[in-house]
Amino acid sequence: MPATGAAAATAGVVDAVKPRPKAQGRRGDEDPRERILCSECHGVVTNGSARIAMCGRHEHVFFNAFGHTFHIGCFRTAPGCVSLGAATLEDTWFTGHTWQVAICARCASHLGWRYEAPGAGGFFGLILNRLTEQTAEGGT
Ligand SMILES: [Zn+2]
Repeated sequence: MPATGAAAATAGVVDAVKPRPKAQGRRGDEDPRERILCSECHGVVTNGSARIAMCGRHEHVFFNAFGHTFHIGCFRTAPGCVSLGAATLEDTWFTGHTWQVAICARCASHLGWRYEAPGAGGFFGLILNRLTEQTAEGGT
């Protein structure tokens, strides 16, 4: 029937101009569906596509003045974090970047730090062993 053919053609056109879903079911390093959760309360902190490299690497290991070691990853955004206190350059781990403590917006666990460079934007350095990764496909 001609009507059926026309309807099918229209549907095809509409389908072609529709924005594609971001994820196509492939696993990869930059899977935008990969959620990164607070390991304490499992609130969503950020996601895999927010990972960035600072000074050439995503992951960094730092020591603070108390001798604690922190293994952190850099993230462009972390909507599940709240920054606390005044930004300071004192003992900063990223030259030219001020830092503030970043805590989980849900349970207030210390998750890392918010770094900001005047005119260059900011990022979050989050303590990797305080985060849990969850992929959309992980249904076990
Ligand atoms: Zn939390």
